[in-house]
Amino acid sequence: MFNPIIKIRINEKMFYFLFLTLVCLLLYGQKYKTQISVIYTNSANGYLESCDCPTLPYGGLARRITVINKLRSKNTIVVDSGDLLSAEENRLLTEYCLKLAKYCDYDAVNVGDQEIIQGLNFVKQFKDIPFVSANVLINKSDEESYFFPLYKIKEVNNIKIAIVGIVSSDTLTLIDNNVLSNIKIVNHIDCLNKLIPLLNKQADIVVLLSHCGLEEDKRIAKQIEGINIIVSGHSQNLLFQPLKIGSTLIVQAGKNGSYVGKLDLEVVKTNKRIKIDKYKNKLVLLDKNVFVDKMVQEIINEYNYKIKKQAEKLLLK
Ligand SMILES: [Zn+2]
Repeated sequence: MFNPIIKIRINEKMFYFLFLTLVCLLLYGQKYKTQISVIYTNSANGYLESCDCPTLPYGGLARRITVINKLRSKNTIVVDSGDLLSAEENRLLTEYCLKLAKYCDYDAVNVGDQEIIQGLNFVKQFKDIPFVSANVLINKSDEESYFFPLYKIKEVNNIKIAIVGIVSSDTLTLIDNNVLSNIKIVNHIDCLNKLIPLLNKQADIVVLLSHCGLEEDKRIAKQIEGINIIVSGHSQNLLFQPLKIGSTLIVQAGKNGSYVGKLDLEVVKTNKRIKIDKYKNKLVLLDKNVFVDKMVQEIINEYNYKIKKQAEKLLLK
């Protein structure tokens, strides 16, 4: 004969089973999958435009603006790992580089040795450029004072991305001692060892803008956990495919701003864990087929006119 008590017990068991399954799904199965892209540049070296000649066949900031704005979407961050400016001190050129860089609408730009050459107090006046730098300090013996924010956090598609910038003191060989006496460079490894664990708590993904050169970036990827992407700089390597060291991807886009890179990431977020499932990289060559905006060309014409006037003045002396 059918026993109603047994039926209730079975139903109770079923209820607990379903309840536990639901809890497990809520705790462990909440997967969020999305796509984000890192648009990256490095080493424009102060070139406003390409001469399309053997000295500078490709590149220049004018074309960079067009390509970045074409690649940009609501899923992207746009970053530069440094040496946006020239290696020779030239304040007029720096002013115009930074005027053009404003139209790239970067989320973060790292300080490289060539930014330091131009004088960081001068560079700092261009408030439209979101410089970040975690290990370059104003040289005051009694306090820690930074020129720029150490990092920036941007949320894209519900994924928090921390963008941090560093420079290695090994890259400062061209810099005048007078300039060096006004700054203090903290060892980049010590800086990252302190900062990356903090950023891992605040963000889902950490993007390091590193002005240390590719070989040092490989060492950083091996030594320091918690960095998802390294946008490498200074050494001017052209990497058509990212280098993967552990779970860190390293990218770099050559010299003289000849390319703009775009790294597409498929990201899976499970509760507090994040995983880059798949990635795809492309480098866009800035050749003469890239259109230059009329307003951008007018800025360059203005610079060329000022240079011509300066040269005429020198000849008259
Ligand atoms: Zn450099």
